[in-house]
Amino acid sequence: MHLFTERWKVINIIAFIIFIFAPMQIVMAGTKNSVESLTVFECGKIQSPDRSLWSPGVDVNVAHKMVASCYLIRHKNGTMVWDTGIPAFVAKKPKGVSVAGGKITLFLDKPFPQLLEEHGISPASIDHLAISHMHPDHSGNANAFSNATWYVQEAEYAAAFGLMAKKLNFNLKTYNKLKDGKVVKLNHHHDVFGDGSVVIIPAPGHTPGHQVLFVRLPSGPVLLSGDLWHFRSNYENGRVPGFNFDKKETKNSMAMIDSLITITGAKLLLQHDSEQNATIPHAPQSLR
Ligand SMILES: [Zn+2]
Repeated sequence: MHLFTERWKVINIIAFIIFIFAPMQIVMAGTKNSVESLTVFECGKIQSPDRSLWSPGVDVNVAHKMVASCYLIRHKNGTMVWDTGIPAFVAKKPKGVSVAGGKITLFLDKPFPQLLEEHGISPASIDHLAISHMHPDHSGNANAFSNATWYVQEAEYAAAFGLMAKKLNFNLKTYNKLKDGKVVKLNHHHDVFGDGSVVIIPAPGHTPGHQVLFVRLPSGPVLLSGDLWHFRSNYENGRVPGFNFDKKETKNSMAMIDSLITITGAKLLLQHDSEQNATIPHAPQSLR
């Protein structure tokens, strides 16, 4: 993130030493050929008449379009889903569903569980589930994966099932069944398959327990952004959306994860970025 100030560079280094050292050791030592594929699905579209919702003071009243992405990981020892897309009920509304006081409209062609079925995978068969955070464009349809083991940061779990859920615009109905399934609460990174090939890394700030995912593909590592960065210019300029839960924490997370990207050489996959997603193979193709 070359436009960061000198002060941020110093914070970057300190944050790296404190928070990134342990997950870094795991991902650096990760097994290269245990992940068989990463399949990207388009799980809806997002439109707004004002791009500055995500970049305060910049691109005010400029129309903005994004995609919502979901991911299937095939590992030699099981399957994992990362993010579950815009909720199914949106698919029945051709004019979309207006949220955030009319500032954002959600659209959906087919819900993620249906896309997975068409891809030959039953949602009920998925072994592992992690969600970057519980906003409805990421956790819609999560109940379809209640058979899976769900990995969630403790702070996100507390927000999701506590009084804060409404304030954070979480939609409990789309994920309430996860509570009764196999839940692994985290306060740190987590090596899903135990070989450093798929690692959940906390990156709080957008929401209390936001997290990102490192995946070591045979062709090289990738980092799934969650909503740490929504699109390229926000990454390059370190911009924080006005509606984030904690701006300072977001900045720290950006610095940490950017260090991890630099050191591992991971390709950053910006989940909402329409331009980048247009260049990445989607289902039925896979990244390998
Ligand atoms: Zn989002």
